[in-house]
Amino acid sequence: MMISNKKLATSLDNLFVGASPEVVKKATANIPSTDKFFINLSGGVDSAFAFLQLAKNSQGRTIAILVHHCYYLKARRDHEMGATIHTINYVATNYPNCLIIYEQTTVPKKPVRWSTMDVILLSTPSALVLLRHKTMGVSTVLLPYCLEECVRINKMDGNVRLLPRGSRSRVFIEIMESISGLDLKFVVPYRLWTKRLCLSKLPTAIKNNMCFCRRPGTDGSPCGKCFNCKRVLPNL
Ligand SMILES: [Zn+2]
Repeated sequence: MMISNKKLATSLDNLFVGASPEVVKKATANIPSTDKFFINLSGGVDSAFAFLQLAKNSQGRTIAILVHHCYYLKARRDHEMGATIHTINYVATNYPNCLIIYEQTTVPKKPVRWSTMDVILLSTPSALVLLRHKTMGVSTVLLPYCLEECVRINKMDGNVRLLPRGSRSRVFIEIMESISGLDLKFVVPYRLWTKRLCLSKLPTAIKNNMCFCRRPGTDGSPCGKCFNCKRVLPNL
C-alpha cells in the first residue's frame, strides 16, 4: 500500500498520519469523548463538506477527528488520494484546534461481487481503523450523506435503527458495530442538504481538487458521463 506519508508529513502539530494508538491516545486524552469523531473521506463532495463543517462547527474548541480513506480501484487511487490529502491539509491548516488522525486502507474490489459490495468494503476497514484507535474513545460516526444520497440509499431520519433490515446503511452500521465492538452513535447531519447546497458552501480550494468521477481520465479530469459527474458538474 502506498501511503502518502511523505505528502502529508507537514509541520502541522495537529495532524497525525498513521500514528500509533499510544501517540493518538496521549494527544487526545484531554478531549471529551463527545468531541471525538470518525469520518470516512472519499475525496468527493459530501464527505469533504461534512468534514469541513465539523471543523467549522467546533468554533475553536479542541476536537479530535479520526479520518479514514479507503480506496478500491487502483485506477482511481492517485486521484482520490490527491483530493483527500488536499482536503485534510486544508482543514488541518485552517482549523488548528482540530486534531486530525489520518488512516488509509485499501481493499481489492474484484473478489467481492454482490449488491452491498461497496458497503462491506468500506465498513470493514472503517471498523478496523476504529478498533486500532479504540483507546482514543471516538463516540460519534459522521455519515456524510447529502439529500440525494440519502434518497438513493435509504432515506434516513437520524434514527438509523429504524432503517429496514438489509438496507445499505443498516448493513454498514451493523458491520461497523460488530467488528469494532464499540458503542457508537451514527449521525447524518446533512441528510436534508442538497448536493448543490453542499457544493455552494465549499471553498474553491477544495472544490478544485475533488475526486467525484467514477472513471476519471489519467490526468484526473472528470469523464462528464458517469452518475457522479452528472450530479456534481452542473452544480460546480
Ligand atoms: Zn465521471
